[in-house]
Amino acid sequence: MTRDRFRYHFTCTTPGCTRTPQHKIASIWSDGQISELKTYGLACSEHADAQLEAARRKHAVTRLAEGESLAPPTVLPLTPLHPTTPPNPTANPPPPTPPAHSSPAQP
Ligand SMILES: [Zn+2]
Repeated sequence: MTRDRFRYHFTCTTPGCTRTPQHKIASIWSDGQISELKTYGLACSEHADAQLEAARRKHAVTRLAEGESLAPPTVLPLTPLHPTTPPNPTANPPPPTPPAHSSPAQP
């Protein structure tokens, strides 16, 4: 019996594209105290440039409150949220084995 794990399946956010995204189009927003990543979209390799252009257009018309800043959008590598392999149960090394008894050197 196999047990499927619950997983989000992301796709490129370009309309009509069903490819797996490899990039995140985002910029860093800050209000001077905290900063966070503002994500414009997820893009496959083919649509990264087009999405970056669209993000730049949105960025150009974004209105910020006083004290806020928004860096220009950039293309970031999209890293998986979860490892593709299960955790290694042997990650913790076994306790060290006692040293072998060595015979004392004979004079
Ligand atoms: Zn795409």
